[in-house]
Amino acid sequence: MKILLVYPRFPETFWSFKHALRFINKKAAHPPLGLLTVAGLLPTDWELRLVDENVTPLEDADLRWADYVFISAMAVQKEGVRELITRCRGLEKKMVAGGPLFSVSWEEYPEIDHLVLGEAELTLPRFLADLAAGCPQHRYSPGPDEWPDLSTTPLPRWDLLAIQKYNAMSLQYSRGCPFDCEFCDITLLYGQKPRTKSKEQIIAELDHLYRHGWRGGVFMVDDNFIGNKKALKEEILPAMEDWLAQRGYPFTFNTQASINLADDDELLADLVRVGFESVFIGIETPHEGSLTECGKLQNKNRDLLAAVKKIQRHGLQVQGGFILGFDHDPPTIFERQIDFIQQSGIVTAMVGLLNVLKGTKLYQRMEREGRILAESSGDNTGQQINYQPKMPWEKLLAGYKRVTTTLYTPKYFYRRVIAFLQEYNPPAGRKIHARLEHGIAFVKALFWLGIWDKDRLYFWRLLGWSLLKKPRTFPLAVAYTIYGFHFRKFFLEQAESAPAPLGSPDPSTV
Ligand code: SF4
Repeated sequence: MKILLVYPRFPETFWSFKHALRFINKKAAHPPLGLLTVAGLLPTDWELRLVDENVTPLEDADLRWADYVFISAMAVQKEGVRELITRCRGLEKKMVAGGPLFSVSWEEYPEIDHLVLGEAELTLPRFLADLAAGCPQHRYSPGPDEWPDLSTTPLPRWDLLAIQKYNAMSLQYSRGCPFDCEFCDITLLYGQKPRTKSKEQIIAELDHLYRHGWRGGVFMVDDNFIGNKKALKEEILPAMEDWLAQRGYPFTFNTQASINLADDDELLADLVRVGFESVFIGIETPHEGSLTECGKLQNKNRDLLAAVKKIQRHGLQVQGGFILGFDHDPPTIFERQIDFIQQSGIVTAMVGLLNVLKGTKLYQRMEREGRILAESSGDNTGQQINYQPKMPWEKLLAGYKRVTTTLYTPKYFYRRVIAFLQEYNPPAGRKIHARLEHGIAFVKALFWLGIWDKDRLYFWRLLGWSLLKKPRTFPLAVAYTIYGFHFRKFFLEQAESAPAPLGSPDPSTV
């Protein structure tokens, strides 16, 4: 059997890092870990090829070669999926699809021959057994509350990937999150009880990556890496530290976690020692009423600013997610978000409009209230909403544009970088592994941002400040100038484009 695994094209988003990747000669930020894991579940005597359309063009010859085309996608890849389906149908290729997009919205894809939904460890073996018996079904869904044990998850097939084309590799430790935020689909997809891999599995995955020649960043893709703190502190991080120390710390890590990370000094110290450099945290909003509305209880009744600063002081960069468009957002929310983000020193602040994802508790509420206008595009930084907001749409959109463009103007952005670097304690004694791509990125940054860019004064001021006041933060300061360039271009280009609301939000209030 010849299987072509295809990862459809992504649109340009906040996280695509399109404008930053060209500084380091990389094609994409992260690899398609889901497809690589699916590949590990397929019979070993099948012939496999993988095309990530974000890295390599998909040729008709690739499609013609295959007996089956396996597709995995997230909601944000919808357009790429549609293009791919059209091409497969044109060449009469059989398609098998899975992943978050299809698991939630499978009814929208009747043209797919076989929908293998939910987590592949459960449903893919059932499809493969039926295929071998000559009676494959159209759809394979997990039962209610049926979650696989992650000990059955195979090693991702890194050998199928051109790893050097990516900025970072990906690894998954756990699935599921103990919290239950109203807008989030993670508990819907993976449940509320975090399931974890064993330390042997994690070490085997690190080892596999290492043997395939990877050195550099690894993104732990877990939606909440600290969902099971006990196992993390007692087993996983100590095992990782031993393995990394023996090899001279070839990897650095970033991940996602809930704000209660700030409550655990020991865990913070462990993460930094192992080589975690940054953590993405869903802060969402400084407005308590909106936190109550969305059930983000872990963020309530705490000093969010102090929590962020504590994490930074421990030596972790904090990336933050922020949302505009909650029913309880007051008219002052735009200025409050700007103030909060500036004070926090969260350099990478992803501010998005609330989007209502299918299947979530928020979707159910909005549906009951008759406020769903369309299905979400899956991109919350795309100037689109898919529900009738309480705040007039024109006002919400104008406020959103004001927040994003203000935060990434050089004046605000560079001020925030310095606010962060002042607070941040880079881990002492960590060896910096300088790689050729870093040198190339530095030279390109000097040329593009230090000479050609009209905002070059800010660039030189930041580098000068960092060299004089905190020389150990210099590499990070350079990296931030490149990130800032991407975010500024992304939000400015977006603000100039005409908004394209999904459905038609009533411009007045509901
Ligand atoms: S903490 Fe994060 S992953 Fe967990 S439910 Fe809330 S938004 Fe989702």
